[in-house]
Amino acid sequence: MNLATEVRYIKGVGPARAETLAAKGIRTVEDLLLYTPFRYEDRTNLKPISSLAPGEMATVIATAEAAHLTGLRSRSLGIFEAVFSDGSRSRLLGRWFHGAYLKEVLRPGQKVALYGKVELDGYTGEILMHHPEFEILSGEEDEGEPSLHVGRITPIYEAAGKITTRVFRRLMHNVLSSLDGMPDLLPEYIRRRLKLPDRWSAIQRVHFPPQDADLRLLNEFRDQAQIRLIFEEFFWLELGLTLKRAQTKIQPGIAFELSDRARQQIRRMLPFRPTAAQKRALGEIARDMASPHPMNRLLQGDVGSGKTMVAAQAAIIAIESGYQVAMLAPTEILATQHYLYLKNLFAPLDYRVVLLTGGGRAKEKAALKQQVASGQAQVVVGTHALLEEDVEFARLGLAIVDEQHRFGVMQRLRLMKKGVHPDVLVMTATPIPRTLALTLYGDLDVSVIDELPPGRKPIITKHVESNRVELVYDFLKKQVAAGRQAYVVYPVIEESETQALKAAQKMHQYLSETVFPGIPVGLLHGKLRPEQKEAVMQAFKRGEIKILVSTTVIEVGVDVPNATVMVIEQAERFGLAQLHQLRGRVGRGAAQSYCVLVTEKLNETARERIRTMVESNDGFYIAEMDLKLRGPGEFFGTRQSGLPALHVANLLRDKELLELARAEAAAFAALPPSQEEFRRAVAYLKDRWERRYGLVELA
Ligand code: ADP
Ligand code: MG
Repeated sequence: MNLATEVRYIKGVGPARAETLAAKGIRTVEDLLLYTPFRYEDRTNLKPISSLAPGEMATVIATAEAAHLTGLRSRSLGIFEAVFSDGSRSRLLGRWFHGAYLKEVLRPGQKVALYGKVELDGYTGEILMHHPEFEILSGEEDEGEPSLHVGRITPIYEAAGKITTRVFRRLMHNVLSSLDGMPDLLPEYIRRRLKLPDRWSAIQRVHFPPQDADLRLLNEFRDQAQIRLIFEEFFWLELGLTLKRAQTKIQPGIAFELSDRARQQIRRMLPFRPTAAQKRALGEIARDMASPHPMNRLLQGDVGSGKTMVAAQAAIIAIESGYQVAMLAPTEILATQHYLYLKNLFAPLDYRVVLLTGGGRAKEKAALKQQVASGQAQVVVGTHALLEEDVEFARLGLAIVDEQHRFGVMQRLRLMKKGVHPDVLVMTATPIPRTLALTLYGDLDVSVIDELPPGRKPIITKHVESNRVELVYDFLKKQVAAGRQAYVVYPVIEESETQALKAAQKMHQYLSETVFPGIPVGLLHGKLRPEQKEAVMQAFKRGEIKILVSTTVIEVGVDVPNATVMVIEQAERFGLAQLHQLRGRVGRGAAQSYCVLVTEKLNETARERIRTMVESNDGFYIAEMDLKLRGPGEFFGTRQSGLPALHVANLLRDKELLELARAEAAAFAALPPSQEEFRRAVAYLKDRWERRYGLVELA
């Protein structure tokens, strides 16, 4: 057996367990060993029942004599009691409130390990434990050998399907005892300087810590063994990103020409003076584009900061050098918006802009694709449909990806493959903490637009409970009377998009007929055909529709400066990022804008989200709160974001270790101790990088 051995060859793993493990991403012995405990219990105090002392935490191994729900009204009480004996003089009572379910679990005759606080029943004088942790020892393959589970600092694993913490313990034990060590590829000098244990010791210790290990450190993930494994995971990740980035820097790419004509065209196109931040970002982008290596740049800026305008200028540089530009957007509405925006901007320049989405008639689509393939279309805006096999470009020079957090790294790569080392510009409105950004976008250079276009007033955000929604309607009437426009948004819940649609339709009817008779109210939702959507959006843009009722399809991208009110119904159902995005649809013109959050039922975290929104307009602060409230996995939507699934490490909890690993990886890549060591590290990385993170592009 070695680290690469598949789990099904492990004693105790049959086809069913192998499948359960595979679902958790555990395929090999190494994967299994990196499935580390999430908690530890001190079960070293193993005692016979007769010597238990009230008040102490102790572990007992005993047999259940009797086990039952108590009393006549057992149903209503639901108290489950079991009496245990271990051959010593006394007996121990276990008591569980709401324990009805235990009837099926804990039966007389079973041998169990119990762990809990010893108490003395005031009335009966019996020794008892309330809600002890317990593990049934009978019937398991290791019945005769309970030492793995008790009498030690015991690791607790998260169960996977039917694979319990006990089974994991046993599997880990099997594997560890059939391996005789493992190589350690973490560079020796780093390990020594940081005083990290070697890999084999760390793996053994993390699963079965010695008696004298510090329980508190273990449960804080700060035992030396855990530190070693976390550091290692970050080190390889960061080294991979560092090398990948260095590699693109030397790849041949397109050197775009910053011609006078391009400058002139940009001036003809620009409807307003760029902000200083926009200028700086464009400067960085133009420099990358002029260099003979591919650009890989992230353009980060809060909602409404004017990223699209910067992207349009970059597009002109590419087009004037004779190349095509692709712009990938996550939703059809957003793609349509970009398409309209760019078509309008580029009209005086006579560029042909086309839109490719999933919908539409086959014949029209074929014609559009033909224009892309022939090079007739200079700008191609689209959704995922852009990535399809049959979309071919004549000369793709610049690929722009909007709202990157919705796309994975793989999708970015797929778009790049449509050209020959094109320049890539990624745009995102999700400002994320620096270390995380460096890891998530570690292969990208970063430009930041940290300034909003002039004359914007901060949006005023209010929270209103749904029973006072009439106030909101009055406010809307006043705004419309003053010549402004408004959005009213309903959440789409994934399971029941039809239901949300119905709600929006009903509300549309109610608002247009009952609340706002005489005011044109429009309806926009995901089920409309693209032309219909475009028609509604255009009517809203022209000001013919005053109030636009919508499901979240307008989440990103709609751009109507005259709209000054954003009403979000059932705001408790939206995440923070979404709320902030939605709010960003207003406050785009000179007039004061408002965001009204209407809520029905608020739980603790929803209240926290609403409070954050009312308090702050700062996307950075909001993203950090979001990250705190949800944790990184959910925050980024690990899969889509291309963020690697980490085994042991945690991006939030282990921030300092990430910084440390990043610095060490950079130093190692710049100045490896020997060519041999470097080569070995790259080979190892390549293997692990490809398998774990699915990135195949490493040198
Ligand atoms: P983002 O994509 O960053 O959310 P957009 O590019 O959609 O922002 O720009 C938001 C709005 O601000 C648009 O109406 C755009 O035309 C306008 N805008 C962009 N840059 C400027 C600027 N320098 N001065 C005035 N308005 C601007
Ligand atoms: Mg945008």
